[in-house]
Amino acid sequence: MQADLVEEIAVSLEATLAQLQSPSTVDVLQVQQAIVRAAHQFMFERGLVQLMPLMLSPITDPLNHGVVDAAISYAGSRWSLTKSMIFHKQLALLNPALEALYIVSPNVRLEFADRAFTGRHLFEFTQIDFEFRNKDGAFVRSFMEDLINYVFAAVKRDVPEVVAKYRPQSLPEFGKLDVYRTEELEAQYGPDFEHLKSREATAPFWLLNHRREFYDKEDPAQPGTYLNYDLIWPEGFGEGLSGAERENEYHQILKRMGETGADKEAFQHYLQVAKQQGLPYSAGAGFGVERMARFICRIKDINDVTPFSRRPGMPALF
Ligand code: AMP
Ligand code: MG
Repeated sequence: MQADLVEEIAVSLEATLAQLQSPSTVDVLQVQQAIVRAAHQFMFERGLVQLMPLMLSPITDPLNHGVVDAAISYAGSRWSLTKSMIFHKQLALLNPALEALYIVSPNVRLEFADRAFTGRHLFEFTQIDFEFRNKDGAFVRSFMEDLINYVFAAVKRDVPEVVAKYRPQSLPEFGKLDVYRTEELEAQYGPDFEHLKSREATAPFWLLNHRREFYDKEDPAQPGTYLNYDLIWPEGFGEGLSGAERENEYHQILKRMGETGADKEAFQHYLQVAKQQGLPYSAGAGFGVERMARFICRIKDINDVTPFSRRPGMPALF
């Protein structure tokens, strides 16, 4: 083996082992475990049914930003690694016995290297993804506010010594969160509004109306605006959740696909279902587990939340 390659691997191995063996990694993992355990309990108490995650599907989230394609061939089909289970959430709600569901969903998004040091991006992560039939965005936002308070209370109860170490002022219970619109903050703060407002904020807040994927519902009362919402963590930690009311009518989905340039051929069966029987009206969201743990522990770089590095655009040994 070439000497420089051996050296490179040795350096990486050292860094890899340091990350694997760091005591703070275990602190954050314990917080993450408390988050997931409490989220399961909260979903159970609120009557959401758990679906197991899928890692391969003929269709997955087109996302509103580019990533490296991740797909395999199998059984004569092309299967994408899951970027999110948005379409499976909508389709599962075709079952009239199911009112609300959630998934602890591993996502593979091969983000480009320009996201390596944002502090917020991994190329694989887990989101807790949920969806309600016949509910609107206000319902979902209020549900998420309750979930945050429930989960934070559980984290404080289950790992008090870790909370004391990373958040000496502890985690407050939040009341109703402030709600802003993107156009309003952009006018006030300029193009970097999300980051600037997050840095200034001391409590999480909602940000409404983003132009993005075709499945987020356009507001029929105000075409060109969207019934979607992000939860932004304060102290500069940035986006923690995205959600929306969903497009469920065939012609509207087609129109939106045309606008975002989605591949109609790839979505032919989804479109067929929308045309033939219609998709249920639904609203939901998904939040990143690692990002919530990062916020609670005030970890600058999300790559420190995991024992195994998953930095965008970078190799990993394990
Ligand atoms: P999205 O619907 O794309 O906004 O993803 C849902 C949530 O997953 C986001 O709000 C983040 O909390 C989390 N998330 C998205 N992309 C990443 C990533 N590359 N690394 C870590 N977490 C992510
Ligand atoms: Mg998002």
